[in-house]
Amino acid sequence: MIQLNNIEKYYANKGIKNYVLRLVTTNIKQGEFVSIMGPSGAGKSTLLNIIGMLEEPTYGSYEFLGEDVTSLNERKRIELYRNHIGFVFQAYHLIDEMTVYENIEAPLLYKKVGSSERASRIADLLDRFNIVAKKDLFPNQLSGGQQQLVGIARALAAQPSIILADEPTGNLQSAQAEEIMTLFKKLNQEDGITIIQVTHSEKNAQYGNRILHIADGIVKEDVAILS
Ligand code: ADP
Ligand code: ADP
Repeated sequence: MIQLNNIEKYYANKGIKNYVLRLVTTNIKQGEFVSIMGPSGAGKSTLLNIIGMLEEPTYGSYEFLGEDVTSLNERKRIELYRNHIGFVFQAYHLIDEMTVYENIEAPLLYKKVGSSERASRIADLLDRFNIVAKKDLFPNQLSGGQQQLVGIARALAAQPSIILADEPTGNLQSAQAEEIMTLFKKLNQEDGITIIQVTHSEKNAQYGNRILHIADGIVKEDVAILS
């Protein structure tokens, strides 16, 4: 599903290249649940953003679902992103002026999904995540855990094949974090959604089936978790 070949990323500053990623080569198959771990500044978010097409590598090739991402123009990349990828952020990134319902609906409007289909998908997600009663509230009226459920519902609305999550429980208490990780595991095992998360938490990583350890922009270890 994801094939990264010799991916490099640097930021140039006064002619000096500061490398964030160096020659990262890895393959992620459909149905995997991968955790990217490593020290702060190791390049984890950068790698996730490259996988999610939010950032471009400075060198190397990237194939997503058989498409050579590095050769696509921006319009094609956005289309590929909208059709296949759901992003979940540490700080939720919900739109404060929109209700829960409207936040979940936003990606469906971008994709021009018809109104009855929109309503039924949103109703399913609200029901599934137990937030029906919150649908007309605004993000700042919700707990962090509830906001993250909305963030995940929004990411799922367009029925992506993959969820990318950057420290999805980084701002949450441990009970809420466990709820979110249990949900991810279910989405992976029952719905077959591929999941890639950045996490500092060994406990969170244990919900998945593989850990990529990154340090200094290099994949140091690639470990399977046997359950
Ligand atoms: P987090 O690691 O919590 O996701 P950020 O992604 O905001 O935090 O930033 C990660 C690191 O990247 C930080 O150390 C920050 O200083 C650095 N950083 C982010 N943006 C820039 C930038 N435009 N120029 C230089 N350093 C940056
Ligand atoms: P991690 O997620 O592992 O904490 P990041 O991928 O956020 O690491 O950042 C890795 C390195 O890239 C950091 O040293 C950071 O300073 C640098 N960096 C990130 N974004 C920028 C940017 N826009 N400009 C310059 N440096 C950046």
